[in-house]
Amino acid sequence: MLKKTRASAIFNGRCPKCREGNIFKNPIFTFNNFTKMNPRCPKCNLDYEVEPGFFYGALYISYIFSVGIFIAVTIILFVFFDDPESKFYIGTVIILSIILYPFNYRFSRVIYLHLFGRVKYDGL
Ligand SMILES: [Zn+2]
Repeated sequence: MLKKTRASAIFNGRCPKCREGNIFKNPIFTFNNFTKMNPRCPKCNLDYEVEPGFFYGALYISYIFSVGIFIAVTIILFVFFDDPESKFYIGTVIILSIILYPFNYRFSRVIYLHLFGRVKYDGL
């Protein structure tokens, strides 16, 4: 049996308490349904919304991701594409943000729950 690290639990979108139950109902590549969360862990019954409105805080993580996309695009276009016109910067940031939105949405919630949910791992 593989040891369940917090990093692998975050990467796979698993419960912070048992690191086995899925936080989301569907795989990330289900076009319309990637946002649906399980209200409770299917394995250990942890209530994922540990306090009312808890996931509003995930907006901060999402914001960090968005700024990261912006910085990465700026550096890559500047260094490897010889500093193109500003419309290319804006267009690339917008398109990448839309493409990466499912990852941003889900990982910001998973990371926020793992880091700020005050839930202890009770596995072995
Ligand atoms: Zn669980």
